[in-house]
Amino acid sequence: MSRAIAVIGAGPSGFYAVDGLMRALPDVRIDIIDRLPCPYGLVRYGVAPDHQGTKGVQRQFERLLARPGVRFLGNIEVGRDVTIAELAALYDALIIATGCSRDRRLGIPGEELKGVVGSGAFVGWYNGHPDFAELDPLRPDMRHVAVIGAGNVAIDVARVLAKTADEMAKSDIAPQAASAIAQLDIAEIAIVARRGPADANFTGNELAELGRLAAFRPAVDGDVVAEAAPPDSDPAPERMRKNRNLEILRTFVTADGTHRTRILRFAFWHTPMALHGEEGHVQALELADTRHPDRHWRIPTDLVVTCIGYDPAPPPGLPLEGGRIAHDEGRVRGMPGAYVVGWAKRGPTGVIPTNRVDAMALVKTVVADLAEAPASGKPGPAGLDNMLAGRGLKPLHTAAWQCIETAENAAGQAQGRPRVKLATWEALIDGSQRSGA
Ligand SMILES: Cc1cc2nc3c(=O)[nH]c(=O)nc-3n(C[C@H](O)[C@H](O)[C@H](O)COP(=O)(O)OP(=O)(O)OC[C@H]3O[C@@H](n4cnc5c(N)ncnc54)[C@H](O)[C@@H]3O)c2cc1C
Repeated sequence: MSRAIAVIGAGPSGFYAVDGLMRALPDVRIDIIDRLPCPYGLVRYGVAPDHQGTKGVQRQFERLLARPGVRFLGNIEVGRDVTIAELAALYDALIIATGCSRDRRLGIPGEELKGVVGSGAFVGWYNGHPDFAELDPLRPDMRHVAVIGAGNVAIDVARVLAKTADEMAKSDIAPQAASAIAQLDIAEIAIVARRGPADANFTGNELAELGRLAAFRPAVDGDVVAEAAPPDSDPAPERMRKNRNLEILRTFVTADGTHRTRILRFAFWHTPMALHGEEGHVQALELADTRHPDRHWRIPTDLVVTCIGYDPAPPPGLPLEGGRIAHDEGRVRGMPGAYVVGWAKRGPTGVIPTNRVDAMALVKTVVADLAEAPASGKPGPAGLDNMLAGRGLKPLHTAAWQCIETAENAAGQAQGRPRVKLATWEALIDGSQRSGA
């Protein structure tokens, strides 16, 4: 009897697990369940809207959705619509691939002020994630922005705010974000990093792109980058990446400002201490010199976007350890037949291909465990269909998602963009039913 597996989460780690399972167990039946009407997780809602090349991986995942035995069940939230225990009773194996969606907090006074936003929410907003359609994080009169963090997400946020409407013309930025950003008149964006330039997690291509912006000139203190160097103890590839970053940052010291009067400033060795505001809205960021913590000062800021990582928000019913799903090499502890993969397992580190390596290793474990387990006769997809129907719930399958995609692509074509996203729950549900769903 063929095995039935539920993959919870339709992001890269879930899809790479599906890919591995299809190769290893050709007649397996797989249900991919996601709380959103759309698949692809952070490829759709995290990766920057002006980096369409990176989103190309979606085509590979799309082919998996077309494979016999694979179903997508969108708009079904595990924990709300169906529990982990119920799924465990229906499927031979569960793979939890729910990512890390909760913004980490700075833990400093003033964080509750308006105008202080986590990158999960901010990036979700500009990428048209329906949970953040109402965020409205910008004010047309804002002049100063602080982006806190020293990784590529900080660079993405700074760049999306800095690019002109022309520079974003071929992107799939959410329409409401595009028009709000186009109205801004920002004088300075500061990327604030606790540590030095040799410690930053940027990658070279993303950093170098900041040197080619039309309206913003990158700036960094020459003294701070002149002597910086990665430690000899770093492995060679890390040293290479850091040295490339340093080379690029040194070109920013003398970057041409003739036509670019707006500034994108790197503030290394600055520790955020507090946020100050008036009438409930942030107005200044208090910083300390990381190397001389008694030296404090304030910079004006109308918007603070924190890009300091994420914590998982796994469905209830799983054992936790330090906020993460407790597991041993991907096997959820104390729950035979349940597994975890991707950001839900490793935390928010690694690029899209990292999840492939992770998923392939997990698939080996799952396949080995299933080979040892007797046929269970669990009902799998038919059992889930019955359960959801009994609750009056109608999952949005691949055909429904394709209706959304067709509508988005058609709107994009009319504007010369890859797509114009449907960016609210209502628009997505409506779009999913417009034809043939
Ligand atoms: C802002 C940002 C930009 C990035 N840019 C790049 C980039 O340019 N290049 C690159 O290689 N990597 C990039 N990454 C990293 C990349 O996105 C991750 O490595 C990858 O998405 C992690 O995959 P995942 O499947 O583990 O999680 P996710 O992609 O987060 O997918 C998790 C899925 O689970 C679903 N889910 C969550 N809870 C439930 C539930 N209870 N029930 C049902 N479904 C649920 C979610 O809706 C989501 O679809 C970026 C990350 C971020 C945050």
